[in-house]
Amino acid sequence: MRFKLEPDQKIRINLGQGGRVDFRLGQIMAPPGETISLGKDYDPGFSAGFHDKAEARERVRANVSRMAALQEKLYAQDVYALLILFQAMDAGGKDGCIRHVMSGVNPQGCHVTSFKAPSAEELDHDYLWRAVKALPARGMIGIFNRSYYEEVLVVRVHPELLARQKLPRASRDEGIWERRFRQINAFEKYLVGNGILVLKFFLNLSRTEQKKRFLARIAEADKNWKFSVADFRERARWDDYQEAYEDMLNHTSTAHAPWFVIPADHKWFTRLAVSEAICTALEGLDLAFPEVGAARRRELQEIKTALEAE
Ligand code: ATP
Ligand code: MG
Repeated sequence: MRFKLEPDQKIRINLGQGGRVDFRLGQIMAPPGETISLGKDYDPGFSAGFHDKAEARERVRANVSRMAALQEKLYAQDVYALLILFQAMDAGGKDGCIRHVMSGVNPQGCHVTSFKAPSAEELDHDYLWRAVKALPARGMIGIFNRSYYEEVLVVRVHPELLARQKLPRASRDEGIWERRFRQINAFEKYLVGNGILVLKFFLNLSRTEQKKRFLARIAEADKNWKFSVADFRERARWDDYQEAYEDMLNHTSTAHAPWFVIPADHKWFTRLAVSEAICTALEGLDLAFPEVGAARRRELQEIKTALEAE
């Protein structure tokens, strides 16, 4: 079982008063098996014909309710788990997206894990160890704010991080990135094959928009805490990150776990596209409330009679 997500699948959003917007899933996806160019094929400012926040907000609200109903079934059925992971450059909007999109979901059915630089204990293990510990149980939605993909992103851009990983010499030759891509693909295939479905969102921000958001974080006192010197330093490596992201997309967008490349310059469109993708994916699953058999129905009727006779 995996999500039924085809690049040609249409997403139709009704705006009321006969207005509507159509876009193809392929416009916000890295099609498995194809080679994409992040710079040429994806526009961070794409908004599928939407012009204003209000239209999009309305739809996000509707999707939040849609997702809440789907999650209830996911939980009751207790067969699948959903892993949703987010990757982005700093100020890409991961946090806000998680907050908005998951706002209607029952907190008991959902768990967010943020992955920071690995601790000493984590460095004493293989790189997937901490991710495995945080995987969602059946019926649950697990959200990874950053993920094991940092192992082919920040670690690739900063080789000194790899040096701290205590890997055997033979495991850290130049073939390491290709190997990690294969290991990650195999890991995700294993998860999907066991009912843990994987949705991956790369929030694709432009360099210009990042600058604007950084300046806003400096200008507004209440946003100062969100900004760090490290964010500014990483910005200087922008091109290296774009290259690492592109290579990641080209190697790890698979039929069992495709990557979404979500335009991130308009936060309202990011949230709309992510919520739409999650709902579309969940609706493609055979989610259902557990069947109540004849014996159980009889039992419930007997209890009803007893309760009414009290
Ligand atoms: P925000 O976007 O709100 O700033 P954040 O996700 O950037 O949140 P931070 O605490 O600022 O959170 O940063 C976490 C840092 O941890 C990132 O710079 C990320 O690259 C780094 N990190 C995550 N996983 C790894 C890893 N496996 N190895 C090394 N560094 C990692
Ligand atoms: Mg940060």
